[in-house]
Amino acid sequence: MSHVTQKNLIAGEWQTGSGEIENHNPSDLTDLVGVYAQATSDQLSATLEQAHRAQREWAAYGIERKQAVLMNIGNEMMSRAEELGTLLSREEGKPLAEGKGEVFRAGQFFTYYAAECLRQIGENADSVRDGIEIDVRREPVGVVAVISPWNFPTATASWKIAPALCYGNAVVWKPANMTPASAVALTEIIERQDIPKGLFSLIMGSGNTIGQQLVESKSVNAISFTGSVPVGKGIAAAAIANLTKVQMEMGSKNALAVMDDADLDLAVSVAHGGAFGGTGQKCTASSRLVVHEKIHDAFVEKLIAGAKAMKVGHALEADTQMGPVVSEQQLNENLDYVALGKSEGAELACGGERLSLDHDGYYMSPGVFLNTSNSMRINREEMFAPLTSVIKVGSYDEALAVVNDTDFGLTSGIVTTSLARASHFRRNAQTGVVTVNLPTAGTDYHVPFGGRGDSSYGPREQGSAAAEFYTTVKTVYMSSGSPE
Ligand code: NDP
Repeated sequence: MSHVTQKNLIAGEWQTGSGEIENHNPSDLTDLVGVYAQATSDQLSATLEQAHRAQREWAAYGIERKQAVLMNIGNEMMSRAEELGTLLSREEGKPLAEGKGEVFRAGQFFTYYAAECLRQIGENADSVRDGIEIDVRREPVGVVAVISPWNFPTATASWKIAPALCYGNAVVWKPANMTPASAVALTEIIERQDIPKGLFSLIMGSGNTIGQQLVESKSVNAISFTGSVPVGKGIAAAAIANLTKVQMEMGSKNALAVMDDADLDLAVSVAHGGAFGGTGQKCTASSRLVVHEKIHDAFVEKLIAGAKAMKVGHALEADTQMGPVVSEQQLNENLDYVALGKSEGAELACGGERLSLDHDGYYMSPGVFLNTSNSMRINREEMFAPLTSVIKVGSYDEALAVVNDTDFGLTSGIVTTSLARASHFRRNAQTGVVTVNLPTAGTDYHVPFGGRGDSSYGPREQGSAAAEFYTTVKTVYMSSGSPE
């Protein structure tokens, strides 16, 4: 079947570019999802220029008009979650329920920020000088570059795009080239709304060409990025060269502490979901399981049994519990980490192998490492794989020390029935997100999200915290003179 090239949205017009890429289904490499145009630097310049004009127009829209736009986008995504979730799962490889759930959740980001359009209330104060009043208000930053990854192609982009639009900005979106179909689908929905021409742009293309040009552009007022640490550092350097506002969410090495007083079945299910959900390709994945020695043997026995029983398969098949890895490159990197773990002395208790299934795809069995130490590279570097390591500890204090001994700091969790330990952990875990008796992955949209250390840089995302990044504060001093 021949495919029509899917275009970029440049200055409000759908345009082809210089060349195109093919997007294949990682569950079945014979399935061509589509063909996608690659944007050129001239198109980038043109769309940025138009974005500035459109942004001024959009900022002047009334708040109810903006609210209606965001509400329509959100409602359409939620009502089409089945269709768009299927497309997402087809190109990214997460099981259908996760794909549908992601699209629905992305719709909720838009409806949440639709309501936030109406809640933009400033502050006022009396001046220290007589007869002068002050008001403090937030204004849009201008044109925002959104650079999003493939692992949550719709949700991550939406939690950036929705607040950017809500607070009156224009958006130029560079999605991951691995997941362009979801990007085109979301762009089509946004483009149909009552928005100024060119307010929203889609520029597909590789990160190190068009992405790099975008982040180096002086026309960009703010950059929101989610992806790897090395790319994030390069983006931060480019942003600082232009003094552009920047916000970044990057990798992590999240730990889940399992205490000896934990409910065993709950601990196993929390660890399992955190480690293998989304094929382990989550920045919030539980890749270190820090387990008290008194519960260790019983815990690992059930964890391994669960991993072995997991149905790995085509993302769109109903009984699939874990889909394929996203790409050949990612799969090879995962297998390299398996070899590295073994060479470091870890025991691979199960999985960690490439699987040949009915469909030709990037399948891998979920793997569990035992007898690992926190100094091993498999416990220090983000693997982004369906692999998890067990680190045995002798006490709660040791567990907390291991949890915090990392360069990252996005999420951490504890499974315990002790209120004292849960309270102490939530105060002393050095991460931006802490969970108690819950997986380290899975967060809400109305509260801040972000981490510490190498995991994040710049203001928090989501909830009302997003206003800090997507707006700039103006302080107005007003002397009204005498009423006489
Ligand atoms: P990258 O950091 O390379 O990609 C993330 C996004 O940045 C993509 O849209 C990418 O474009 C873009 N990009 C890449 N280089 C540049 C650049 N120089 N300037 C501007 N944009 C750029 O992550 P990968 O997809 O390569 O994944 C590699 C590893 O990163 C994973 O194994 C994982 O460890 C980590 N990662 C973490 C994520 C998280 O949620 N924190 C999400 C994804 C990855 P394109 O892909 O089209 O080239």
